Amino acid sequence: MATVKTTPNKPKDAGLEARQKLGWWHAYRFLILRRLSQLSIILMFLSGPLWNVWILKGNYSSSMLFDVVPLTDPLITAESLATGYLPEWTTIVGALIIVAFYAVFASKAFCSWVCPMNIVTDAAAWLRRKLGIRQSAKLPRNLRYVILVMILLGSAVSGTLLWEWINPVAALGRVFVFGLGATLWLVAVVFLFDLLVVEHGWCGHLCPIGAAYGLIGAKSLIKINVVDRERCDRCMDCYNVCPEPQVLRLPLHGSESDSPIVLDKDCITCGRCIDVCPENVFAFGSRFEKQVQVKNI
Ligand code: SF4
Ligand code: SF4
Repeated sequence: MATVKTTPNKPKDAGLEARQKLGWWHAYRFLILRRLSQLSIILMFLSGPLWNVWILKGNYSSSMLFDVVPLTDPLITAESLATGYLPEWTTIVGALIIVAFYAVFASKAFCSWVCPMNIVTDAAAWLRRKLGIRQSAKLPRNLRYVILVMILLGSAVSGTLLWEWINPVAALGRVFVFGLGATLWLVAVVFLFDLLVVEHGWCGHLCPIGAAYGLIGAKSLIKINVVDRERCDRCMDCYNVCPEPQVLRLPLHGSESDSPIVLDKDCITCGRCIDVCPENVFAFGSRFEKQVQVKNI
């Protein structure tokens, strides 16, 4: 069993110990891979305008992969259905493809591996740690599920796609794909909200898209495994970087009867806890078995 630290690492130093002990690549690998994934998707949207090869045509709400495979945001589709309007079959098929993918594979992987807003909210969280901002207004984490229900009810009552008026994910997508736009202020508001008002405020408390993906991927296959609780020396680096730190408590510090697998639907499968842990406590795995180590990286 590791010697428990009497003084946990400071939030601003999260990942430093892993970098010193295990090397630079180990301490950042999943963060780098996620940024590559997010930027590749932006490039796929840009491939048409830039090179006249349309890998992804459309936007984060609705797109066509190679002009053949429809991909649609399930929340928009649900809003459409709530208004009483039956979307075109390509929209429905696109939503079903997305739902099937995230339901089977990784919990909320859209949030960490696809959504461009993750770059903004991670930047706010990083700056918050570096500036030592500890104050945070308290909001219930399940507020996002309440917002999700309100959006669907609001769409049904108003007959409009309510969320699309203020959707900052779509707004940022337009910024990346079409250049700076009038909706950039929405993105700036989210950044400042996360930096100054509520820690992980947007993704962790408010975003209804994340809430929808949480419900969709609640039983998904890929989960974070706590490989060996005994190795944990309570440095707290994982809690400091995790955008949903409440999901770590039971798998890591629960009782014998608590599963060592992060089964909570709010884990975004970002792998940042694996990166920063100097004791190699975590690994990607499945919800059924422990310790499926990602060996080659
Ligand atoms: S699991 Fe790793 S990073 Fe988290 S507190 Fe324990 S030793 Fe630190
Ligand atoms: S538990 Fe790990 S993978 Fe899940 S959200 Fe937290 S840091 Fe990311």
